[in-house]
Amino acid sequence: MTTIIPRSEQKGARIAAEVACPNCRERGTKVQRVTLESLLRPERRGHIGDKPHYVCATPRCDTVYFGEGHGKTFRKSDLTVRFGLKETDAPRLVCYCFDHTIEEIHDEIRRTGGSTIVDSIKAEMKEPGCRCEYTNPLGDCCLGAVQAAVANAFRLIGNEGPAGTGGTADHGGCCAGTGPAPDAPAPATAGQNIVNERKQDK
Ligand SMILES: [Zn+2]
Repeated sequence: MTTIIPRSEQKGARIAAEVACPNCRERGTKVQRVTLESLLRPERRGHIGDKPHYVCATPRCDTVYFGEGHGKTFRKSDLTVRFGLKETDAPRLVCYCFDHTIEEIHDEIRRTGGSTIVDSIKAEMKEPGCRCEYTNPLGDCCLGAVQAAVANAFRLIGNEGPAGTGGTADHGGCCAGTGPAPDAPAPATAGQNIVNERKQDK
């Protein structure tokens, strides 16, 4: 028998507990086991359970990975890399394969009024190629997060830039750590949007 969920409850519905970050309660995105195996400190790798794992993209949340149904959780300090999305001080990596940082994006916009990072990453993805599932804590292509960081940088620097340089400009921005108001509620959902959009892109 099928239970019909009223439309009003479907939209913005409560996030199923198994896929919600146990710390911030935002929805996580499924991540491959190989990402955890690549990025967790060696002594923490043995704690990866058999259940599917999710990554939390909320900027201010200390939890990075959690097992479905709230199995094991892993925090920022369990990783061998800095998770730029969740950091507030430089350098905040946003492209882990080619070492691009949020600071670099800001710097280029301040110097030139534009941003070439998305094009340059696309070129690097062809040659030498990327290994995002092994290097990016999100476990997936970084371009969505990079585009969001560029859009956010343009907004912060107050320069709208020429069309086409900002990628899909309507992200809330993954580098919310630089945001003006520390208590602004937007960043948590903004990070989430990036992940969701990246999923849909596939
Ligand atoms: Zn979280």
